[in-house]
Amino acid sequence: MKVTFYGVRGSIPTPGKETARYGGNTPCVVLESLSGQKLILDAGTGLRLASEEFADYPEPINILLSHHHWDHLQGFPFFTPVFKPDTNITVYPGATIPEHDTAILDQMSKSYFPIKFHQLPSNITIKKTNFSLDTGVEIGDFTVQALTMNHPDGGSAYRILCDDKILVYATDNELSPPEQHNHHNFIDWVNFCNDADLLIHDAQYLDNEMDQKLGWGHSSISETLELAQQADVKLLALFSHDPLRTDDNLDDLTAKIIAKKLNYSFFFAKEGRSLTL
Ligand SMILES: [Zn+2]
Repeated sequence: MKVTFYGVRGSIPTPGKETARYGGNTPCVVLESLSGQKLILDAGTGLRLASEEFADYPEPINILLSHHHWDHLQGFPFFTPVFKPDTNITVYPGATIPEHDTAILDQMSKSYFPIKFHQLPSNITIKKTNFSLDTGVEIGDFTVQALTMNHPDGGSAYRILCDDKILVYATDNELSPPEQHNHHNFIDWVNFCNDADLLIHDAQYLDNEMDQKLGWGHSSISETLELAQQADVKLLALFSHDPLRTDDNLDDLTAKIIAKKLNYSFFFAKEGRSLTL
């Protein structure tokens, strides 16, 4: 399974020279199976950059959303296949507020956006799906299980099996949340991420920022490192970088984590990076 990061930034795009190396686009990751089937994870502003990869892609195009906060949807109106007549695009909404399943289209309505979703020539299906832990749902070559995230308004983390490899995608997820969005405890997350070949997990904050940002729905880097350790993951991608985190900050943090001599590999997710599991 090939994994390409198109957007790795949390909350808001952060263009500028201080974020140019790791990237300023918001979440979008594209998976590709050995047979060439693709699955898009989230439709943040990074999805615009993924358009080229889908120029000649056979349909349908499948998009799996973690949740519907702006930074996970805003690339959709700039994803060029939506303007291609009769292209079939299926969007799987995250487990948030049920009446908001169409949020990705609603952003192209009223006075929010100049082109309204009903003007799009592509065929877009919002496919509400009960992903669960017990039975995986098959989307082409990908078998998908889900767990509700600890995040304001909810959302879904996904455990995806493809080509005998396991990838877990969990952003935005707060590992030590306040009671109002504490859907799953740390041990539940350890079990969900267990033995993943790649864990992509939210790591937006530093420990000294957590007091002020408790309940905002993100985790600290150190909590995420602990999760990867306990879950025996092979490779960790620290994801959803804080808008204030510069490239130099992330380089410094990388050096500090390397000094801990972890027994698994890690990296801070970087826009444009591809790897094969
Ligand atoms: Zn969010």
